[in-house]
Parts: sequence; C-alpha cells; structure tokens
Amino acid sequence: MVANPQTTRRDAYQLAVDARDPRFDGVFYVGITTTRVYCRPCCPSRTAYDRHRRFFNSAAAAERAGFRPCLRCRPELAPGRSATAAVSRLARVAAERIAAGALNGRNVADLAAELGVSERHLRRALEREVSVSPHELAQTHRLLLAKRLLVDTDLPVTRVAYASGFQSLRRFNVAFREQYRMPPTALRRGRKAPPTESGFLKLTLSYRRPLAWESLVELGGETRIEINGCRGTVSVENSAAGAHLIATISESLWMVLMPLVAGLRRVFDLDAEPAVIDAHLGTNGLGALVAAHPGVRVGGVLEQLEGAAPDAFAPADRELQRAAGVTNTKALLALAERWRPWRAYAAQLLRISI
Ligand SMILES: [Zn+2]
Repeated sequence: MVANPQTTRRDAYQLAVDARDPRFDGVFYVGITTTRVYCRPCCPSRTAYDRHRRFFNSAAAAERAGFRPCLRCRPELAPGRSATAAVSRLARVAAERIAAGALNGRNVADLAAELGVSERHLRRALEREVSVSPHELAQTHRLLLAKRLLVDTDLPVTRVAYASGFQSLRRFNVAFREQYRMPPTALRRGRKAPPTESGFLKLTLSYRRPLAWESLVELGGETRIEINGCRGTVSVENSAAGAHLIATISESLWMVLMPLVAGLRRVFDLDAEPAVIDAHLGTNGLGALVAAHPGVRVGGVLEQLEGAAPDAFAPADRELQRAAGVTNTKALLALAERWRPWRAYAAQLLRISI
C-alpha cells in the first residue's frame, strides 16, 4: 500500500504539536477549530484534541480560513520558512518582498514586473506554496506587525497603523476588528509596560534553536542604518532563554520597520533550519565542530540589510585552508564538495575553531 502523503504529513504535524517540537516553529501553524485561534506548534497552551486541529502552511492561510492569532504563543513572532524549504524561488522571493512591504500602497502588477514574471504567474506561485493571494499575504504581514507593535512598544496607535503598512488609520481599525474580532487597543490593556529607553523601540526576532551566537556576535554592535531616507541605529543582542534576538532600534526608523525587520531576519540568518544543516555537516566530517557550536549561522551585511548566500565561501583563504587541514585552494574545494549546499556554514564553523 502506498502511504498517502497528506495523511503522513498530518501525522507528523500531530506529533510535532503533541511534543511542542521547536524544529517546526514557523514551518506550519495549527488552527483550533473550537476557538478559531491559530498557534505555533510550540504553543505552551493546552493543546486541543487531534480532531479539532487544522494545519496551515502559513499564518496567512490560517487567517484566510477565519482563524485569529493566539495571544499566548504569538504567531507574529515565529521564524519564517528557510531558504531551502521546498518552496519555489519565485514564491520565496515574492513572499520576502511582501513581508518587507512591497505591496503597501502598490499593486501586484508592479511587484510582478519587478520580479520579471506575469501577474498571473506570481499569483499562482503564491497560491500553490502558501495557499493565499499576494494581497492576503500582505494583509497578514501588516496585521501581525501591528499586533506585535501594540504589545511590544509604546508607539501611538496611529503610528502603529502606518508603520505596519496601512494607508489610513480607519482602514487599519476596520481590518484589525474584522480579522481579530477585537479593537487594536484591547491588546494594550493589562500588559506590562515595555522596558524601553525613550527614543528606541525594542523588537524580538525569533529563531529555531539552537543558535551559535558566537557566529553572529560581531554584527550585534550599534550600527547606523538608512532605509528610504530614514536614518537611525540598530543594535542586536541574543536572548538564548527566549530563543530570540532583541533588536534595539531608533524610533526615527518607525516608518521603515517592515523592510527593517525583514532585513534583520536575513542579515542574522534567522530563518535557517539548524536541524537540517547541522545534521548534514555533522555526518560529513565536521561532527566535533557541530557538537561544539550547534546552530551556527552565516551573517550578512547589516548596513545593506543583505543576507549571505548559504553555499558561498572563500576557498583561497589561507586561514580557512589551515583550519580545514589542507594547504591549497584546490584541496579545500575538493574537501568542501561534501558540505554542499552548506559550504558557507562549514566555513563559518572552521573559522570559529581557529
Ligand atoms: Zn498559541
């Protein structure tokens, strides 16, 4: 008998929810049909019976089905899909652009033209991979960013609306009430005041454990950033206990938080799936290094908000050659064949060991 792939995936997700498995954080979401709330797989709330669970491959798909985000596990903080997940390149790039605000006040045809495809092609790619339209995906990103700004910052509600990409306060209020069945201000009642020094916003950036902070720590220092004419500084520290980074951001950057948060996730490689990368490198000659530095990440360029390529490395680098125990470029290239498609991570591990 051939296993039904749908059934198999559903079983795997059921087990992941039962175990609150952090490896699936951001990979799928579980909707509880009795409460119409959707959660991250690792939600600490008591889980519903199997038959009351529905699984979604994106937060936007759960919202389209009429579920609202859990106030406890906060789906808006979940890491994104990794670059290597089984998602087409077009869908991934489009989703990244939309997360960064590409459809705020702009239409799908413009985004499609920028990506060099037809609008129909773009719509079908997103529908296939994340089960939603471009507009639905954009609306979910806006609402989820608004939700986190309401909870995590003291920004006035009007600023929250514009910072999240809404074109008016009225549209924001209507969309929020419609989707989340409560007014935006309800999220601010009874919360602890965020411990932020004035002039700065603190936002958390979740990742899938483990994370080797030593591979990123050099990027954490205060850095000047400019996006679309807005200037300010960003500094980042790690909260290992919370499985997130904490970004301290100048309030002057509030209008560009969408591209900034999306950019920081790329720069700090926060959507990586260490379970997959570490397993591959660990069984290909780097077991001791992986054990010493689990969850290594490849950092990008903070000033440009650019991520690094997962398979890029510098085979002519003498120090890298020495760390790998070889004496020339050709030998390092040959050795690195088995690390594909994660050669940048292997190089990072070797560099840490120097
Ligand atoms: Zn939850």
